[in-house]
Amino acid sequence: MAIIAFFCLPAYGHTNPTLEVVRELTKRNHQVVYFSFSPFQQRIEEAGARFINCDAELPMDKAGAMAANSDVGGSIKLLTDTTLALDKKICETLQALRPDCIVADSMAVWGKFAALKLGIPLISSTTTFAFNRYSAKIMKQSFGQLFSLICSMPQIRRQIRRLREHGYPVKNLLSILQNDDQTCTIVYTSREFQPYAETFSERIQFVGPSLRQISTKAADVRTAVYISLGTVNNQHPDFFQNCVEALRDYPGEVIMAVGTENQAAALEAPAHFTIRPQVDQLEVLQKAALFLTHGGMNSVNEGLYAEVPLILYPQTAEQGGVARRVVQLNAGILLDENSPAAIRRAVNQVLANPVLKENAAAISRSFRQAGGAVRAAQLIEGWIQEKKN
Ligand code: UDP
Repeated sequence: MAIIAFFCLPAYGHTNPTLEVVRELTKRNHQVVYFSFSPFQQRIEEAGARFINCDAELPMDKAGAMAANSDVGGSIKLLTDTTLALDKKICETLQALRPDCIVADSMAVWGKFAALKLGIPLISSTTTFAFNRYSAKIMKQSFGQLFSLICSMPQIRRQIRRLREHGYPVKNLLSILQNDDQTCTIVYTSREFQPYAETFSERIQFVGPSLRQISTKAADVRTAVYISLGTVNNQHPDFFQNCVEALRDYPGEVIMAVGTENQAAALEAPAHFTIRPQVDQLEVLQKAALFLTHGGMNSVNEGLYAEVPLILYPQTAEQGGVARRVVQLNAGILLDENSPAAIRRAVNQVLANPVLKENAAAISRSFRQAGGAVRAAQLIEGWIQEKKN
């Protein structure tokens, strides 16, 4: 039996894939301790882990901003503040616990830094594409973002100094944002979906989506249109209103997950619309003919796993990269404009093109063959054993 400490951001997109891995590890009699935040407590405990609440050290909304923050300087400051706020609690808990390894989300750098500071083996959990200079090409940065990075360098250097003063051996900006090619890494996609998969070492393992088992079977004939912009950047009333206008005469069901009660209440729509703050996305996808999504990695994984072709409306650079990969593999199309006419055009285009669905099904096969949470648990066990030998 091993003791394994998990660290994650307070974000559904980063937490959800780890839950099935935790469930599998505890089923195999390992002890899992999970450092996270109160909105995730119930799910983490249900998966079988001991939950360690980090709310007091870090207000949830501040940490939640990390997932949404596209300004590198601001993000590094937030990551540093978080690491230092959690420093005492994490170090004391880990010194008492003496875990065999740390599994840290690639953005929850306080977990990675604790592993480095305390000499505990690190496994990275990556809920986006694995990142190196080749795959970075698909996440094209705009001139504005590069300019902002250059302007942020003095701020970033200050943060690195603060981390070093607290015993964290941080080399440079890249070592905060990225792991080296020898860090054991679980990536929740398949080699087929990962751009430039051949450029990664055998330490980077692609296990496919790690999804909860559901009892609902896929509908024989799928007619529903499902629309969601995820759980972080989802406040876009004009976009959802345009979806209502675009699909006012759609002959099937339209399901929209709009993020908040307020946004749901503000939308007036005909009876064939179901509008909710949140839905059980895995269930809804079983009856969807298409998924209009922001291109969050989990939503794209879940849609393609259910063999649903996509319309992509990315809101961040990362989502833009994921969207480009879907378009490259011809399993979806980009929404070219936020207007009723463009949304209606895109929906009709996807429904009229069976090739998109066939390609989604091919990616789904690659996902299923990649092994999911069971494969992730086997890898973690193997890596722990390797460190012991
Ligand atoms: N999700 C859900 N119900 C909803 C909206 C989202 O269960 O109404 C889940 C979805 O299944 C996925 C996660 O929330 O696992 C969203 O992650 P993603 O990476 O797609 O986007 P983010 O929310 O991080 O932008």
